[in-house]
Amino acid sequence: MGRTQRQRHRRGPQTTIDSSDSLHVLFGQLHALGWRNHSQLSALNFPQTGRGLCSKRTRFQAGDELIRLPASCLISIATLESDAQFKALFNTDLFDKDSRMSFQSLVACYLMHQQHLHDTTQNSPWSAYLGTLPGSYTTPYFCAMSELQCLPESVLERTVAQNRQIRDYYQLLKSLVGAQHCECCGQRYCEDIWTLEEYRRAYFAVNTRSVYLNAHQLQPPARSHFRALLNGSANLALAPFLDLFNHSDSVRTTAELQLVPGSKSQDYVLTLDALSKPELRPYEQLFISYGALPNLKLLTEYGFYLERNAHDYFEFTLSDIEQLIAHNKQLAAQSYHRNIFKFIREHNLMDQMFVHIQDGCSHNLRVVLHLIFKQQAHFPNVLNQIAFGDVDQFDNVQPELSYLLAHKIKEYRGFVGAMEQLPQLTESGTVAHGYLLECLRYLHDFEAAHCEANS
Ligand SMILES: [Zn+2]
Repeated sequence: MGRTQRQRHRRGPQTTIDSSDSLHVLFGQLHALGWRNHSQLSALNFPQTGRGLCSKRTRFQAGDELIRLPASCLISIATLESDAQFKALFNTDLFDKDSRMSFQSLVACYLMHQQHLHDTTQNSPWSAYLGTLPGSYTTPYFCAMSELQCLPESVLERTVAQNRQIRDYYQLLKSLVGAQHCECCGQRYCEDIWTLEEYRRAYFAVNTRSVYLNAHQLQPPARSHFRALLNGSANLALAPFLDLFNHSDSVRTTAELQLVPGSKSQDYVLTLDALSKPELRPYEQLFISYGALPNLKLLTEYGFYLERNAHDYFEFTLSDIEQLIAHNKQLAAQSYHRNIFKFIREHNLMDQMFVHIQDGCSHNLRVVLHLIFKQQAHFPNVLNQIAFGDVDQFDNVQPELSYLLAHKIKEYRGFVGAMEQLPQLTESGTVAHGYLLECLRYLHDFEAAHCEANS
C-alpha cells in the first residue's frame, strides 16, 4: 500500500476558526523577519492528516532543503531571555534549586503570557502564531474519565505522569508568579488569568509542536535570567509555520542551525535526507520525521498514530505475565519460585520485553519467558548463568508466547468493547479507540507470522 493511500489518524477539526487569516498574517510577519520561502510552501488541508504542508511548484528529492527559517522566527530560550516584560514576572530571588521546572513548561507559560497580551492589548508579537495553534489536542490526556477507564495500563501510566508533571509545574508557577497582579488589567496570575485549564492546553501546544534545537548553538545572552530555574536543557523551540509539517515513518529528515554566510544571524534548516520514493511532486504533502517512534509514543505525546507504522512494536510488562499465569488454567496449576521474579526485577529484565512484527520476540522477553516457564532453577547464581549465558537456549518459548499474545488480544478486545459501549466519544477518545484497534491488528499479524505454526 502506498503511503499516500495509507490511513492516518489524527484529529478532526483541529484549527481555530480564524486560522487561515492568522496564517496569512504569519506569512507576512515571517517575511518581515527575513524568511524567503524559497521552497514555496503552502498550508493545505489533506484528507488523511488535516492541515499540512506542500509546495505548489517545487519537486523534492533526497538531500533537498524543505524549509530555511531565520532563528529569529523561533520561540527559543533566546526569545524568553530577551523579553524584559516576561522576565520581570520571575523574581530570581524566589528560585529554589530543589524546585525547578522544565524548559517545556516555561515555554508553555510564555505562550499563556503572549495570549494574555494579545487578548487584552492586541499587542503580542506572536498573535498570528497563536492564531495558528489548534484549539484542542487529541492526546489521551484529554480523554473523558469514562474513556480513560477503557484504556490499557501502558497509556494510563504516561497520562498519569503527564498529569503529575503539569500539576507540579503549575504549583511552582503559582508560587513564583501567582501572587502578582497583571500590569495591564490588574487581574491575578494563576487565579483570574493563567488558569490550570489554560496551562494544560499550552503545555500540550509545546509538547506536540516543538522542534529540537541545540540551544548551545544559539548566541547566548550576556546574563541568563532563567538558568537557575530550569532543571534540564533548553533544547527545544516553537517554530511558527514550520510546525505545520506532519510526521511520517517513511522519511528521514534532519534539523540544524546554520550560520548565514556573511552575517551573525542563523537559520533553522530542515533537510529531507531520505524518502520512500524517488521524488515528491508539487501538491503532494511534505512530511518530516519526529523520530523513529512507535504508536504508543505518537499517541501519548502527539495525539495520533499511524496504521502499519514501520517503527512500531508492542511492549509487555511483568504484570502482563503474572496476569497471564493467573488467568491460564494450565499455567496457574504450576508453581513459580518467587526468587525468579525477584531476579528478573533486580536485573531489569522486564525492560524491553516486546514483540516486533519482523524481528519476532525481543531478547529480554525470550529470557524472561524462559526463566519463568522453561527451567526449574531458582538460586540466583544458576539463574545468572541461564539468563546471561548462551543465547541459543532461549529459542523455544512456545507455547507461552502464544498464550501471552492471546491474553493481550483478549484484554484489548475488552477495552475496545467497553469503549464502544460509551454513548459518545471525545476527539481524544476517538483517536484512542482507533489506536486500540491498530494494536489488535498488530498483535493478530504478529500471531499469524510467529505463533500459529508453532503452537
Ligand atoms: Zn492583564
